[in-house]
Amino acid sequence: MPFKALHLSDHVLRGVQAAGYTDPTPIQLRAIPVVLGGGDLIGSAQTGTGKTAAFALPILTRLGHHGRVRVLVLEPTRELAAQVETSFRDFARFTDIRAVAIFGGVGYGHQRTELKRGVDIIVATPGRLMDYLKEGTISLRDISILVLDEVDRMLDMGFLPVVKDIIARCPRDRQTLFFSATVPPEIAAVASFALRNPTRVEVGVNRSINESVKHALYPVSFEQKFDLLVALLEKTDFDSVLVFSRTKHGADKIARRLKAANHSVAVLHANRSQNQRIEALAGFKSGKYEVMVATDIAARGIDVAGISHVINYDVPEKPEDYVHRIGRTGRAQAVGDAFTLVTPENANDIRDIQRFIGAKIPELRLEGFEYKAFAPRAVQPEQQRGRGSLPGQIRHKGSYNRYRGRR
Ligand code: AMP
Repeated sequence: MPFKALHLSDHVLRGVQAAGYTDPTPIQLRAIPVVLGGGDLIGSAQTGTGKTAAFALPILTRLGHHGRVRVLVLEPTRELAAQVETSFRDFARFTDIRAVAIFGGVGYGHQRTELKRGVDIIVATPGRLMDYLKEGTISLRDISILVLDEVDRMLDMGFLPVVKDIIARCPRDRQTLFFSATVPPEIAAVASFALRNPTRVEVGVNRSINESVKHALYPVSFEQKFDLLVALLEKTDFDSVLVFSRTKHGADKIARRLKAANHSVAVLHANRSQNQRIEALAGFKSGKYEVMVATDIAARGIDVAGISHVINYDVPEKPEDYVHRIGRTGRAQAVGDAFTLVTPENANDIRDIQRFIGAKIPELRLEGFEYKAFAPRAVQPEQQRGRGSLPGQIRHKGSYNRYRGRR
C-alpha cells in the first residue's frame, strides 16, 4: 500500500515524497490510521522501524495549519529530541506548521525566541521542559496530542517522576501516543495512567538483526581487547565506525587511545557538554571523524547514514541493546558489519543475547592478530569462508583480501 492510500494531507504527502520515502514501513501502516482516527496508541517499536514518521505524519495531518502549541513530544535524550524535531520540520516543509526542540545543555536564548515566535509542536527532554513550565514560559493548556517516546529509556534515565508530572499538566482530553521497546511493570503503570483504551501496535520488540548486517563475535582476553580493536580497525575497510563502550569513562579512554593510534575520533556520552555532543555528531556525520565512540544512551536512536561498521568494544548489558546497537549499521539497505569483542567473562551475556535474538552469532578469529593469553579456537575454519556463509561475508584486509578481490 502506498502512502497515498493512508489519508494523509496533500501537504504532508509532498513532505513524505521530498523525504524520499516510497512505501510505508509496517509500523507506519498500522499506526497512521489509529493516530488519524484520534485514538490512543501503545507502540512497541524501536527506532529504526520508521517510528518517527509513524507518529509525525498523522500528527501533521491532524494539525493542518499553524496555531497554538498543540503537540508535545517527550524524548529521553537531547540528540533524539533534535532528530525528531528535524523530522517534523522536514515533513512539514510544505505547511506553515512550526516545531521547536527544547533540551538542556544549551542556552535559553534561541529556544525562547522560537517559543515567542509561536510554535505548534514542542519536542523536548523532560528536564528543560520542566524549567519552562515552572517559570510559565510554556503552557500545556492547549495540548491535544502528547507523544511519550522511548519511555523505557526515560525510565532508565530516571525521568519517570518528571514525566508523570508533565503528563498531569496536560489536558485530560487529549490523544496520547506511547512508545516503548519494552514494557516493564513501572512503564505499564505509566501507560495505564496516561492512556485511554489504547490500540496496541506491536512491530514486536525487534529481536531480529537486519539481514543486510553481518555480525560476529571476536573472542579475546581482557588484556588484549584494545589491541584487537586497533587490529580490527586496521584490517577493515570502513567508511565510518561506531564503537560502543559500556561506560562514559571507558568511552573517553578508548577515544584517547584511538587518537594516539592516529584515528580521527569523536566521543558521545552524557557527560559531554551539549556543544561537544553537537560537534561530535556533526563531525561524524560529515566524515571529519571516522570513528565515534559512544555509550548506549547517547547513541540510542541516532540516525547517521553510512555507518559501515559497529564495534561493540564492550558486550551490551541488556540483550535488546545488542539489537539497537547493531541497528545503527545496515540502515536503509546499506550493508554493514558488526563486531563484538568478547572476553571469557562475557559468556553469560552472550548466551542471553543469542537467546534474545534467537540465533547463534558466529565466532571469528582475526587472522594475523597475535593472540596471547587467551587463544580462541579458530571457530570458523578457512575452508568454510568461501561458501558465502555468514562469517565468510565479513571482509578484512590482508589475509581476507582474496574475497574482496571478487567485488
Ligand atoms: P526511525 O525509526 O523513525 O528512527 O527511522 C529510521 C530510519 O528510516 C530513518 O532514517 C528514516 O528516515 C527512515 N525511514 C522511515 N520511514 C521510512 C520509509 N517509509 N521509507 C524509507 N525510509 C524510511
